[in-house]
Amino acid sequence: MLYRVIDSEELPSLVSAFMKDYEVVAPVKRDGSYVFDVIGSPDEIELSYETTISSPKKYLLPPDETLLAFDARANGVTDFAAQITPRVIFGAHACDINAINRLDLVFRDGRYPDPYYTARRDATLVVGLSCMPQSTCFCHLWDADEARFGYDLFLQDIGDKYLVSIGSVEAANILEASCKPREATDEERIAFRHVTRTRQQSFDHAIPDIQDVAMLMDAFHDDPFWEELGGGCLSCTACSAVCPTCFCFDIRDTFDPDGKTGRRERIWDACTSPQFALVAGGHNFRPTAARRVRHRMYHKLNGFLANHDRMLCVGCGRCVKACKAGINPIEVLKFFVRKGAEDAQ
Ligand code: SF4
Ligand code: SF4
Repeated sequence: MLYRVIDSEELPSLVSAFMKDYEVVAPVKRDGSYVFDVIGSPDEIELSYETTISSPKKYLLPPDETLLAFDARANGVTDFAAQITPRVIFGAHACDINAINRLDLVFRDGRYPDPYYTARRDATLVVGLSCMPQSTCFCHLWDADEARFGYDLFLQDIGDKYLVSIGSVEAANILEASCKPREATDEERIAFRHVTRTRQQSFDHAIPDIQDVAMLMDAFHDDPFWEELGGGCLSCTACSAVCPTCFCFDIRDTFDPDGKTGRRERIWDACTSPQFALVAGGHNFRPTAARRVRHRMYHKLNGFLANHDRMLCVGCGRCVKACKAGINPIEVLKFFVRKGAEDAQ
């Protein structure tokens, strides 16, 4: 990895350089909260933002996208690639970059790459930005508090400067042309080490660190805890909507009134929705809210790990804030702390 240092005052030049050739989306403040949105000026970016309500996932996997438009009269389809916008996701925190890396595993790097996701991903540059944890963050538990790959640039705030990790030639050229990047001094390397340690020490250590949670979930699959946790689920699907790694979708064909033209669309779906596992004939494989919540937690903390050697949860804490029923992975971790304490008695 190549590291360079730029002064903070150079950041607007870097953003402006990206804006020449790309649509730039970045954290901005809207109605008192932070969201990723298209910016018209570098001044709009909130560099010290708290975790956004939803993640940048929507720029790679839109909530509703047309996969193809069909015209039965001409026996033709419209090429989806015409919709792809060259884009920079600017200011993504490490957890969100690690979330994109997980989406890449599913949609781009697997045996059957998804052409729609892959086209968007290939047209996207990611510029990461360092952060300090909030009370709901637990990315450190799953090794997602640092981004080791998956970005084009990563900006580590070291005071009035940024230590810039360079991940792609394309971004390096833009950095070189718009700023005066220079070698890091020993003092700046030590400053980097200092802020890294400060971040690591700033997590809420009341959130339990249970690294064998996947194994424990298998052992306690039928525990009444899952009914206690999921019984109050409102089936609102907010958890999936805000989650940077939830990727379930549905496909629907929509016809125009003439019945000859229409679109095939992909829309977000959620395993906490009552209809998610409902099949023809009326059978529902997960008929209760508690079963659906258990399934979601298993996918996040158990099943994906078995297939991809990492948790699907990156500990961003968004669902901790979004769920009005208090259902989130931290509650699962706390359950196993209680279980351990009971067994010790
Ligand atoms: S499950 Fe919750 S904490 Fe984990 S990545 Fe999704 S939204 Fe973030
Ligand atoms: S777990 Fe919470 S956020 Fe998710 S569907 Fe249930 S009530 Fe809504």
